[in-house]
Amino acid sequence: MKEFVIVGSGPASINCAWSIYRSEPRRPIRIVTRDPFVFSKMVVPSVLKTLKNISQFSPSLPPSALVEYGQEIAGIDVDRMIIFSRCREWNYEKLFIGIGSRQKLIPFSGRRIFYPSRVGDMIELRNLIQEGIKRVVIYGFGMVTLELVDILVGLNIVPVIIFSSPYPLSRIVNRDIGDYLASNFSGFIELYASSEISELSDRHIVTTAGVRIPYEALIVAKGSQENEIQGFELGVNEFFETAYPGIFAGGDAVKVFDIVDGVEKYMHLHSVAWECGYYAGLNMLGARLPFRGTLFRAITKTKRFSITIVGNLKEFDDMEVKCKDGEKMFYCMKKGKLSGFFGYGFNVGIKNILREFLRVYC
Ligand SMILES: Cc1cc2nc3c(=O)[nH]c(=O)nc-3n(C[C@H](O)[C@H](O)[C@H](O)COP(=O)(O)OP(=O)(O)OC[C@H]3O[C@@H](n4cnc5c(N)ncnc54)[C@H](O)[C@@H]3O)c2cc1C
Repeated sequence: MKEFVIVGSGPASINCAWSIYRSEPRRPIRIVTRDPFVFSKMVVPSVLKTLKNISQFSPSLPPSALVEYGQEIAGIDVDRMIIFSRCREWNYEKLFIGIGSRQKLIPFSGRRIFYPSRVGDMIELRNLIQEGIKRVVIYGFGMVTLELVDILVGLNIVPVIIFSSPYPLSRIVNRDIGDYLASNFSGFIELYASSEISELSDRHIVTTAGVRIPYEALIVAKGSQENEIQGFELGVNEFFETAYPGIFAGGDAVKVFDIVDGVEKYMHLHSVAWECGYYAGLNMLGARLPFRGTLFRAITKTKRFSITIVGNLKEFDDMEVKCKDGEKMFYCMKKGKLSGFFGYGFNVGIKNILREFLRVYC
């Protein structure tokens, strides 16, 4: 029987299922995923600080959804309207592909290397921390690293961070903001900027600058890249339709329109994946609801620091810096319009900032 099939069980897929369910509660939905259970990748690092099983953080699923776990889709036969794994196939009437992204790997292997999106890795690392290891190195300095820093400091570990760029969060913020961050973090983190790992033994890391760093665990957080299904083009239009009849896609795996930059780009954010799923689900039911675009926004609120980022902080004509009650805010302007915001402090109100961006761009 042909039915609505969703590939993947990340936030894009789960919200696609909810979106379908809310409009047509009786319509059966089949979710086919290679995961062993439903979870959101962004909560995986929190395994380090809690003894709870990760499945306790699982998002809820609509009652009309049936999930098939441990199934990796290898290809799509668009003429026969079939998706297939190595040993099974499924007919679809409408298909949503939410295969997301994967973490970038490093060309080293070893018992002491851990990836923050892998549940098993985080459980193993948690056990090592409970046994008393203290020397944890993080490789890469993006948004995920901020969260890891907070968790490790909370566990009385001084994280050591090795990163290839000259300043933290270099893919998202400009040099001034990056230097400001580095100076704030240098009090409780050991930083090695402009460095790559060139050698790795069981006990030491050697950087390209020739520095020898002892370590007991290495967490790799070098960013993410989109997943693909071989031979299948995942470009979508404003309805999240691919070029193939009945096939939709969304989330980390596809480019979305950035209203600030005015271009389509990959935006690997939970909130964006969630939005994609919402629109795609309705459009699978024939709503023809166009997605007008989105904007980069991320908040990392921890016990020690709170960082709010909105829009584009890399390309700008002018930047204004404001300080108030120990909090610091950077406003970037492009062509006379607000184009990026960075706030360091607990009282930075994201709602007002977002409202301001929406006023300018919508
Ligand atoms: C450690 C970490 C922390 C993060 N923290 C934040 C945060 O604080 N805030 C934020 O906004 N974003 C965060 N992100 C990013 C966020 O998690 C992603 O943007 C979001 O999960 C993307 O959702 P998605 O549904 O598109 O894809 P994913 O969450 O990547 O899910 C993809 C799904 O597809 C499945 N799949 C893949 N290929 C196949 C296949 N061939 N066959 C079957 N199934 C397949 C996968 O198993 C998975 O179920 C974080 C990411 C990581 C790794």
